[in-house]
Parts: sequence; structure tokens; C-alpha cells
Amino acid sequence: MKKICDELQKAALLVASHKNPEGDAIGSTLAFYHTFPDKKVELFNADPVPYFLKFLPGVEKIRHQMNELSGEYDLVVIVDCANPDRVCERFFQQIKPKFTINIDHHESNSYFGDLNLIDPKASSTGELLFQLFSCFPQKINSQTATCLYTAIMMDTGSFRYINTTPRSLEIASKLANLGADPAWIARNVYESHPPARLILLGMALQTMVFSPDGKRAEMTLTKEMFQKAQADVSFSEGFINYLTSVAGVEVAVLFRELDKNTYKVSFRSQGRVNVAKLAEELGGGGHFQASGTTLKGSLDDIKKLVRQKVDELIAQSKNASQRSYSN
Ligand code: 5GP
Ligand code: MN
Repeated sequence: MKKICDELQKAALLVASHKNPEGDAIGSTLAFYHTFPDKKVELFNADPVPYFLKFLPGVEKIRHQMNELSGEYDLVVIVDCANPDRVCERFFQQIKPKFTINIDHHESNSYFGDLNLIDPKASSTGELLFQLFSCFPQKINSQTATCLYTAIMMDTGSFRYINTTPRSLEIASKLANLGADPAWIARNVYESHPPARLILLGMALQTMVFSPDGKRAEMTLTKEMFQKAQADVSFSEGFINYLTSVAGVEVAVLFRELDKNTYKVSFRSQGRVNVAKLAEELGGGGHFQASGTTLKGSLDDIKKLVRQKVDELIAQSKNASQRSYSN
């Protein structure tokens, strides 16, 4: 952390995170912008900011096209990405940074940076950044606090997942003292949806399927449904949690059609089964309780493969006890 703090003082920054961004990716990216107001800090994400994060201060500063970036970078910071491909294809080939700092909490992180701050026990990259920014205590202003609180809140499922630790709660409390407003943030993220989200949710719920023992649950969203509801992929954020909210469900799966024969597959575990392992086997990644991948093929073939893998994993985890994090 000390070395990273020294580097951060030196050069202008480009901060980037993963495509399909959520609260941790966007909150962590923006936190740099607000922590170094006197410095040139450019921000990049390959995909648009989802509507439920547009309230965050500074979102309009994020660039989404590589040709909008100024080019030469002495220092690039990548947040919340297990590997460089998560930023987007060709990012590193095109940007060619002189020095890269990699800050993340995925267990599968490939340590691709010149300096790496990786802590799988951290609930979120936002939590790690709070600790990092303590080298600049005067710099955590209310905007940074808002961005980091949002990151932690979303990655812990509002302090409900097993990555919610005494440390993440303490940091959330400190951020609230520094100006993050928990009720206002939660209202913006969870209670400011367009009606189209509920129309889409109605369609998704009708596709619910449970395995005979009730341990695996799934839902499917096709492109046609998105079109009918006039919704994009970001409108379905959190739908998968309706499945894990059912008693007895161990693993929830959401299939989302991105393109013909291309499906985004999301996994959530109720806490006993490690879905990071499952996603990695299928070419993706993530965390113990939340992971995902993109698969190509017909929906029938993909479902067959996924069901088999999930059922195997549930069977293997028979004797596993609830995973718990400790500090
Ligand atoms: P979601 O299901 O919300 O899209 O993703 C849940 C988590 O799984 C993400 O925070 C991320 O850590 C991981 N994840 C999702 N999709 C991918 C993927 O295609 N590749 C990798 N490496 N991780 C993913
Ligand atoms: Mn994260």
C-alpha cells in the first residue's frame, strides 16, 4: 500500500474497471477522481454506466471509447478486475501503460500489475480503496465516501452476503461519518427503477425452473423479452436474487441472451457452494457467492451443460459447511 501511495502521488492517472460495470467497478473508479482533485485523472469503462449508478458524483467524467482517451499514460490503475481482459479487448495493447497498478478482491486475480493490491478477504474493491486512501486521510471527502460506500453496499448485497465482515461494517460506518448518506444511496440504487424493470421482471419470473430437489433454480431472459420490455441488460441487475430468496435453493442461475448463440450466465450461491469455481471451469470467474461467465452455443446445450455442472457441484458440497470470512 505504501508503494502504491507513493506511485499515486507522482503521475497523472488513467483509472479503468471491468465491462458490464456494477457498483464496485464504478464506485471504485470514481473514488480516484474525487480523491485527487488537483491531478489529471482520466476514467474509462468500455460499457455505459447503468441507470441505477447515474446518481454517483462524477459519472459524466467516465469515457467509454478508447479514442476519447488522451493516449500516453505513465500510470494506469485497474480496479475490480481479476485479469486484464476484463477491462476490454485490446485495452493494454492500445494504451501501453508504462506502469500498472492492479487493485482487486477476486481470489482468481492473475497479478497482472507492476504493483498488485489483492485481498480476497475484502468485501469489495471499495473496501480496499478506503484502506489505501488512509495514506491521504485529508482526501476522503463526501464524494469519495459516497462512491466507496456504494461499492461496498452493492458488493455485499446491502451487507447481507458472507463477505460482510466486521471490517466492512466498520468501514461503512466511517464512510457514513465522512458524508456518505446510506438511506439516500440505497434509495438511488434500489428504489429509482423505471417501470420497464418490473415489466421485465414479470417476464423473467415466468421462466423460473427448479430442479426436483429444489436446490438449483434458474431464470432466462431472451433478447425478445428485453425488446418487448424496452429494457437493456442493466435492467435485470439483481433479478437473480429472487431465486436465492427461495428456501432450499443452493445455487441460482440466470441466463441472459446477449446475441444469437451468446449467453451471459450468472451464478449466485446461498453460501455453502463455491460458485467461483463453477464459473472458472466455464471460462469466467467471480467470488464464492457471486460469479458469471459468457457461453456460446444454443440455449438448450448451454442449459444442459450448466445444469450438469451445478448439480455435480451441489452434490460435492454435501458436507461443506457455510463458508465464513474472518479478519
Ligand atoms: P454478474 O452475475 O453480476 O454479472 O457477476 C457477478 C460477479 O461475477 C462479478 O462481480 C464478477 O466478479 C464475476 N463475473 C461475471 N461475469 C464474469 C466473466 O465473464 N468473467 C469473469 N472473470 N468474471 C465474471
Ligand atoms: Mn467487486
